[in-house]
Amino acid sequence: TRIRPSSKRCAVIGGSGFLGRHLVEKLLGKGYTVSVFDIRQSYELPGVTFHQGDLCDKQALLTALQGVSLVFHCASPAPASDDKALFQRVNIQGTQTVLQACTEAGIQKVVLTSSASVVFEGTDIKDGREDLPYAKKPIDYYTETKIEQEKLVLKACDKEKGLLTVAIRPHGIFGPRDPQLVPILVDTARRGNMKFIIGDGSNLVDFTFVDNVVHGLILSAESLRPESPICGKAYHITNDEPVRF
Ligand code: NAD
Repeated sequence: TRIRPSSKRCAVIGGSGFLGRHLVEKLLGKGYTVSVFDIRQSYELPGVTFHQGDLCDKQALLTALQGVSLVFHCASPAPASDDKALFQRVNIQGTQTVLQACTEAGIQKVVLTSSASVVFEGTDIKDGREDLPYAKKPIDYYTETKIEQEKLVLKACDKEKGLLTVAIRPHGIFGPRDPQLVPILVDTARRGNMKFIIGDGSNLVDFTFVDNVVHGLILSAESLRPESPICGKAYHITNDEPVRF
């Protein structure tokens, strides 16, 4: 039996991760029913159905997408990995599979968590806007595949077919349960490896509080309608103030 899609029923791919779990918690608070799809289950919550699987597996995705109308895609291998084949398999082929599954399941909206690094070429960017071109020489495999992933998702936006897409581009995300950014900074400082300054000390870096990223993801999902100018577009997301670094 096919469950009728409800606009308040969504799936979070990568929902066991740092950002994904914050998103899930906020969605529940806003009255959404949530299916989490992830290769691992890291917690339990009432109102959340967990589907353990690899996003490269279309059949597994289709099971998790039953009755869903909105999909948040927040899964990726850890950026620190150097495994080019893994990034290509998950971020490129996997995203193609996610989009195919979404089409087959009649999903109406897909919101991708991309990355601000897709426009970073290694030189400083201040007040960077969304009309900056994609990096021609991405800084690593992670970014190379995040660029291809974002292009795939935005290209899939098709009002005729009824699939609307948008991408949000945070840079570094911090907040409770952050497994990487702040713990690594603190650990490096404790080991005495932060006693030097790159440049003249006026460098800025853009970290975004996790709740603000979540807010941006939900706002874009709720604004995504056929007549909306955000269809098929990518948006940088930041706090009011960059952090002096
Ligand atoms: P995370 O590692 O905490 O979460 C990612 C989740 O994806 C994990 O739970 C992991 O199990 C899952 N996953 C990985 N491969 C999978 C696969 N093949 N199938 C199903 N699930 C899989 O990372 P995060 O920090 O929460 O990042 C979420 C998203 O935000 C990612 O797309 C990342 O590129 C993007 N992003 C993160 C930051 C940051 O600073 N954390 C900055 C910019 C963009």
